[in-house]
Formats: sequence, C-alpha cells, structure tokens
Amino acid sequence: MAAFPEGKSEERKHKSIPNGSGASQGQWGRAWEVDWFSLASVLFLLTFSPLIVYYFIMSCDQYHCSLTDPIVDVLMGNLSDIWNKTPSLSWKAANIYICWVTFQVMLYILVPDFCHKFLPGYVGGVQEGALTPAGTVNKYEINGLQAWIITHALWFANAYYFHWFSPTIIFDNWIPLLWCANILGYAVSTFAMIKSYLFPSSPNDCKFTGNLFYDYMMGIEFNPRIGKWFDFKLFFNGRPGIVAWTLINLSYAAKQLELYGQVTNSMILVNVLQGIYVLDFFWNEAWYLKTIDICHDHFGWYLGWGDCVWLPYLYTLQGLYLVYHPVQLATANAVGILLLGLVGYYIFRMTNHQKDLFRRTDGNCKIWGKKPEYIECSYTSVDGTKYYSKLMISGFWGVTRHFNYTGDLMGSLAYCLTCGFGHILPYFYIIYMTILLTHRCIRDEHRCSSKYGKDWKRYTTAVPYRLIPGVF
Ligand code: NDP
Repeated sequence: MAAFPEGKSEERKHKSIPNGSGASQGQWGRAWEVDWFSLASVLFLLTFSPLIVYYFIMSCDQYHCSLTDPIVDVLMGNLSDIWNKTPSLSWKAANIYICWVTFQVMLYILVPDFCHKFLPGYVGGVQEGALTPAGTVNKYEINGLQAWIITHALWFANAYYFHWFSPTIIFDNWIPLLWCANILGYAVSTFAMIKSYLFPSSPNDCKFTGNLFYDYMMGIEFNPRIGKWFDFKLFFNGRPGIVAWTLINLSYAAKQLELYGQVTNSMILVNVLQGIYVLDFFWNEAWYLKTIDICHDHFGWYLGWGDCVWLPYLYTLQGLYLVYHPVQLATANAVGILLLGLVGYYIFRMTNHQKDLFRRTDGNCKIWGKKPEYIECSYTSVDGTKYYSKLMISGFWGVTRHFNYTGDLMGSLAYCLTCGFGHILPYFYIIYMTILLTHRCIRDEHRCSSKYGKDWKRYTTAVPYRLIPGVF
C-alpha cells in the first residue's frame, strides 16, 4: 500500500519477464537520473507533507475539523497561539509508542506464522518475493495476519477484562504520538540512507542518483534488511501503520462512547469498512510481495516516513472527524453507504483476483464461468529479446482497463460519506485516492503503451475506458 503518488519515473516492466532472464537494472524501480521536475516534486513533498499532516490533525484538535478557520487565524497573526496550544511530545506518548513498535517488531521476527496451518486458503509462513534487479529472490516470513489477530485480541482483552490502559489511549495522545511517529519516520529513513552507504544488504540492488534529496526520499537500497528476516519494506509497509489503522478506529469509537454515551452508526460503518480493507491486506500479504511497493520501490523517506506518519494519520481522518462531529445516519443512508462500500470492495478484490488467476494460469482458467478472452501481445526487452504476454479483455478487465481502482475509489467514497456533508476534511481521503489512482493509472498506461506498442492500441480499442465506462 503506497502512501503517496509514486515518482513518475518508476517502472514496472518486469512483470512478464520470465525469471528476469532478459532483465537489465535500468528497467526497475525509481530513476537513475533526476530531472528538475522530479527534484522539485521531491523538495515540495519533503517540505510540505509533514505540515499537511500537522495541519489536518491540529485543525481537528483546535478548530473542530474546520480547514479554513486556522488560515483565518494565521492571517490575523495568531500563528504562535496555534503552536502554543499544540500538545508537545510527552514521556507518556514516547513510552506508548516505544512499547507499540517494539511489540510489533517482536511479533514480526519472533513468532513464526501459524495461521496458514489452520486457515484454509490463507498463504502465510515463509514465502518468496519477486526477483530483484541484481538477481536475488528474498524470502519473507508472512505473519501479518497473525500479528493483527494477536494485537486485536489483546486490545479487546484489555478493554473488557484487564483494564491496563484506557481504550481511548490513542485518541488521548494523538498529537504527542504524532511527534513520536515523525521521529521514527525520519530516523528510519536516515538510517536506511546511511546503511546504504556503509553496509547495504545487497550492494548490487542499490541505486545512487548523486542527488541527496532524491536519494533520501525515494531510497537507495532496494530491500534493506537487518539480519536474515527483518525486512524494512515489509515491516514498515504493513506494521506498525496498517495494524494500527483498525486500533486507531477502535480508539475513536471508544472516545465517542466516553463523550456521548453511544457509538454512532457512522463510526461503526467506518470501523467495519476500513476493517475489511485492512484484513484483506493481511489476508493477501503474500500477494502483496508482488506489487509495486515491494517489487519496484526502493526504501527511503517516501516509504519510511509515509508508512509511519502519512498512512496512520491521514487514512483515519473519518474516525477522528466523527469524534468531534458524531453523525447518526438515517437507516436508509447507512445501508446505502454500506452497500457502496461492500460493492466497491468486491470489485476491488475480484478484479485483482481475476488478473492474478489469469496471469498465474497463463489464461487457462475460468472467468465468470467462461474461458477468458485476451489479446496476445509481445514486447522486446532492452537486450533485444522478444517476450510474449496476454492482456485480458473479459471479466472485470473487459469493463474498464483499471476497474480495480474504480472499486477502490468506491470504497474510499463510502468511508467519507459516513461523515455527512458538514466539512470537507473527511473527504480528504477520496480526493487524495482519486489523485493517487488517476496518476498511477495514467503512468501505468504510458508505460504499457511503450512496452506493448500497437498491441496496447488493440487493447485500448477493445476496452476503451480507464475507470468509468462511457466517462473516463
Ligand atoms: P494493477 O494491479 O492494475 O496492475 C497493472 C499492471 O497489470 C499493468 O502494468 C500490466 O502489467 C498488467 N495489466 C494491465 N492490464 C491488464 C490486463 N487487461 N490483463 C492482464 N494484465 C494486465 O496495478 P497496481 O499494482 O497499481 O494495483 C494493485 C491494487 O492495489 C489495486 O487494486 C489498487 O487499487 C490498490 N492500491 C491501493 C493503494 C492505497 O494506498 N490504498 C495504493 C496503490 C494501489 P504487465 O506489464 O505485466 O502487462
């Protein structure tokens, strides 16, 4: 799960190259050279992303989630008031955060997966990742689902039985925890940068552009590791941010209960719909090893800071908003939003599943009860070797060219709609996801077009729309 729109130079040419035999390093990951546009984007994101996160969280804390009132105050010269009212880093928050991250590290490296032994259909335990540019195939311990289950079982045991800490603990320390998350995000990105110079895990998989800012943001090492099993990308992408996602929402629900004596149906909807998305992520963690984040991105600030700060703070804005503005939806609206979210999730999951099945079986499978239709296509790798591939034009891949993104966007819209129409803040997620996925879609198509040439043209004639049939 990428936290930001990716750098425009990221490439994904390798998906269909059998075992990378025709591979060249230049085909993978981020750029080897930095153009001015990329550098300007990097500097912009490095400067403004932490401010954006602070602005959203502060505006909830001090302005009841209004995004315009803080601007008015700043224009009236009250910037220092805002800063003075902002809770600072506390020992309590530091202790909570250290315990949290240590606990997730322990679950990741010390507890081998047992879920795959009793959950039918679940792929866990030791799994292989994709071939890296230097020809390495890393092994991963897939135990995210187990970490999620243990963490949540303990959370409920505490809430209903042990009472070691209040279930509102996350909400109550949200801004002090933001400073802790930032410290970890910057520390891990800086450590990854130093490590890539001094003791890289796989020196041949490092990319140096010579531009310090770009390298810091987009990463140098491909798969930094400590020891045999502690993989930075898998750990920081999935935990602590995504395990925390559902706990953060539970903490918001607990806060609503404390403040208003009830949990609204909108808060329940946010918890349920985002809970499904998070569980889907961990159920498919082995599949995730073959996605852009793991196969193509290097590990830098973009992933390190993004996973520690951007994701847990901005993907959970709806629940935070509902603490300040409890919305009780009319039953018909609640049912409509639930349906939108579930249909979106179904489309998202089934579209991804159809492509995965189609590619794994080389088209020898059934999609919607029939043999899939496809366009045969070919491409040539940089060393001149010709390869063959197939683009499916039936099932969900016959509806639009990125129907998985459409499903994802429907789910994202459903989260936002739970908050009603009082403020724009909870709609940040759908705006952000629309930019992220449209950008990703256009960039991916640009790459596919140069890869497949006239075959891609045949494909776009057969499936003319990208996201919404008849519209885009
Ligand atoms: P896709 O799973 O859509 O993969 C695109 C690739 O699939 C293309 O580059 C091409 O690769 C191949 N392809 C394209 N069309 C076809 C076809 N008709 N038949 C067969 N193969 C085809 O992209 P992503 O990896 O970007 O997304 C995976 C999921 O992750 C999506 O559901 C997305 O919504 C989700 N996501 C969520 C994010 C979040 O933050 N919540 C962020 C980003 C993604 P090839 O070169 O092999 O032909």
